[in-house]
Parts: sequence; C-alpha cells; structure tokens
Amino acid sequence: MTQPALTPDIAIIGGGPAGLAAAEAALAAGRSVTVFDAKPSLARKFLMAGKSGLNLSNDLPPDQFCGAFPPEMQSYLKHFTGEDVRRWAEGLGEEMFIGSSRRLYPVAMKASPLLRRWLGRLGAAELRTRWRWTGWDGDVLTFDSPDGPQTAQPKATVLAMGGGSWPRLGSDGEWMKTLAKAGIALSPLRPANMGFNVDWSDHMADRFAGAPVKTIAMTFGNTRVEGEFTITRNGVEGGVIYTLSAPIRDALEQGETTAYIDLTPGRGRKSLAQRLSKPQCKLSASNFLRKTVRITGVKAALLRECAPDISGDPYELATAIKALPLTLKAPRPIEEAVSTTGGVAWAALTADLMLNACPGVFAAGEMLDWEAPTGGYLLTGCLATGFAAGRAAAKYSMGS
Ligand SMILES: Cc1cc2nc3c(=O)[nH]c(=O)nc-3n(C[C@H](O)[C@H](O)[C@H](O)COP(=O)(O)OP(=O)(O)OC[C@H]3O[C@@H](n4cnc5c(N)ncnc54)[C@H](O)[C@@H]3O)c2cc1C
Repeated sequence: MTQPALTPDIAIIGGGPAGLAAAEAALAAGRSVTVFDAKPSLARKFLMAGKSGLNLSNDLPPDQFCGAFPPEMQSYLKHFTGEDVRRWAEGLGEEMFIGSSRRLYPVAMKASPLLRRWLGRLGAAELRTRWRWTGWDGDVLTFDSPDGPQTAQPKATVLAMGGGSWPRLGSDGEWMKTLAKAGIALSPLRPANMGFNVDWSDHMADRFAGAPVKTIAMTFGNTRVEGEFTITRNGVEGGVIYTLSAPIRDALEQGETTAYIDLTPGRGRKSLAQRLSKPQCKLSASNFLRKTVRITGVKAALLRECAPDISGDPYELATAIKALPLTLKAPRPIEEAVSTTGGVAWAALTADLMLNACPGVFAAGEMLDWEAPTGGYLLTGCLATGFAAGRAAAKYSMGS
C-alpha cells in the first residue's frame, strides 16, 4: 500500500456535536486533529435541531437530570451536566436562557451562530468534508472522497458517526456494517423519540392532521405524563408521545398496544360526571360537551374516534374522557425518529470509550447504545461522550 496521505495525531470521523466535542478536547490536549465527514458540510443534524430552538441541555438538579440516562452514561455525565453545557456555550459567546421545564436554549434560538463560533474555536483542526469513512486496511483508515479512495493513519481515532435517523443529514448507520465486519458487538439501531401509527378514520386524518392536542395527560403502563401531542396523518407524534416512546416501542414488539389519554387533567372524573348529569335539553351532543366540560375541536373528535360506542351515561362518558384508549399500531420508521437507540454495545467498550477489539479507536455520541428523552438530554449526552472520547484519544495518542 502507498503511504497514507494524512497522519494526524487524532482522526475524528463524523463532524456532528460528538465529533466536534472530541476534536475540541483533543486540540485542548495539544494534539493535531483531522475531522472527516461524509457530507459537504458539518453538523447538519445539529443545525436541524436548531430549527426548533436548539434545546441544548436542561437545568434540572444533576441527580434528576442524570436519572433520564441509562447507568452506562452516568460516569460521562457526572463531568458534563446542564450547568457545564451552559458554561461551555457561554464560553463560546452564546447567550443562553432557561425556558419551560428548565430547558436550556441559546437566546438566538438557532444553532448556526453557535456552530460558527465553535468551528472558529476548532480552527486548528484540519477538515475533510465529502470524505466517507469505509473501514480499515490493517490499521489504516480508508475513505471514499471526490478525488477517489484516500487513507489516513492517525495515532488514535474517534468514531462519531451518529445514529440512524434522518439519514439525509448524514447519520445513515452504514457504519454498523463496517463495525460488524470488524467483530465489534452491536445492538440493532431502533427508533427513539418517534411517533406511532394509529388507524385514524379518513375524517380524523383529513380534518385534524397537524392539530396539537393540549393540555392532556397520557398514561402508558404505570407512567403518566402531562403535556401535549400532535395528530399526524398516520398517527401521533410530539411531547408526551416521545416521553413515552421507549416503553411503547418495546411493548409494540408483542403487537398493538394502548395508551390512555386524560382529556381534562385538571378536572376529576366525579366533577365531570356531575356536570355531564345536567339535562341536555335541546343541545346537540357536541354542544353539550362544549358547554358542560369544555371539550371541543380535536379533543371532541378524539373522543368520538377512540370511544365511538360510548353511551350518554354521564359516568361512562366521564370515564372515557379521563382514560380515552388510543390504540397504537407500530412505531414510525427510523428515518423519521428524532434519535435512535442501539449501536456500539457497552460490552464492546472500555470505561474510556475505546473499542476493546480495536486499541486506539474510541466511539462517542449517538453511535453508542443509549437513549434519552427529548429536552436537551440527547445533545448533552453526545457532548459529554464526545469530550470524554476526545480526551481519552489524546491521552492514548501520547502513549503510542
Ligand atoms: C429534527 C431533530 C431535532 C432535534 N432537536 C434536538 C434538540 O433540540 N435537543 C437535543 O438534545 N437533541 C436534538 N436532536 C438530536 C441531536 O441532534 C442528535 O442526538 C445529535 O446530533 C447526535 O450527535 P452525533 O454527533 O452523535 O451525530 P450526528 O449529529 O448525527 O453527526 C454524525 C456525523 O457523522 C457523519 N458521518 C456518518 N457516517 C459517516 C462516514 N461513514 N464517514 C464520515 N462521516 C460520516 C455525518 O455526516 C454527520 O455529520 C434532534 C434531532 C433531530 C433529527
């Protein structure tokens, strides 16, 4: 083989938030860094996250915050919680604020200014875009590039190629095949924080697709979550659905399952039944619901859709309003999910995020087998593991 073209101390493969955090840590340790990305520009999913305001982290007390992550993530988060994310972003000159549910956002409510400043800080790193990593030839990294096949031989490598959702933004999960070939233990990629299919009637889909349903509570198993969700043509998505998505997804492996919607979380069943016991007189059923218990629009449509055979009995109606059964058929496809779970198994990694089977190769971000709800947890997890892997790779490269 000819001499590899590039020989940085550290190769970072994937220029999303995890890869850029790894690059920052390695540069801070005085190492030379090259970041490779298959796409023409970096951090496309990060920029997409910015379209909904860029919820970077969460200001909950550390114990509560860390409780949203699996045990394997705890040691990385201990060193990088919401407060650290805030300090880091403010250190880049980005003004931050805490919104509802203690979520942390940049005042700019988008990702591009922060990304610009971040890339400025990483100015010493070499960037190779349109370089798609294809695997190893011995200990040499191989790439496809616009100029044909390329190689690099770093002292250490950080893999940060993301999960498998929104593949058009770069994270297509193709690396699973390469790592499987290298004998790395992997768990299948599955959607996380995704919507679900519901067999809506044509009327419901045509009339209410895109309608937010708020404020409600949803119960699945023993978990009740208050918030809102959105009706889609094929089913449901958003807030409470994402929060409950992991147990619902797992239950769907056994066949369709049911979540229960409380259409009036602020009013108890008894109070509803009392109001619904008033004489209906000449009011239509929908006007009666509106006047007595203020159920209108999409909530009234849901009641008709999910409890079509309900009688006019006030107690039966109140029970349906407080626990309206919503039959969920299947998760929406992985391509549509906010994030994915699965990927590099924890058993394949050392505590330093190095692949046991590939000394000097580290992994970070959504490639790792963890999941967390929306609310700033995902980016925090990617940054925390990215910084940890970058530090460890830098240390490894000094000893090799
Ligand atoms: C619509 C949307 C909104 C979101 N909003 C939020 C939010 O507000 N808050 C939050 O915490 N999280 C949010 N997320 C999730 C968050 O964006 C991701 O968890 C995060 O970007 C994952 O970071 P990562 O660095 O691991 O991977 P990615 O950001 O996916 O980056 C991976 C990079 O690797 C590159 N790559 C892949 N394969 C190769 C290869 N073979 N060779 C070279 N390069 C390769 C890709 O091109 C990509 O640039 C959102 C996600 C979506 C889809």
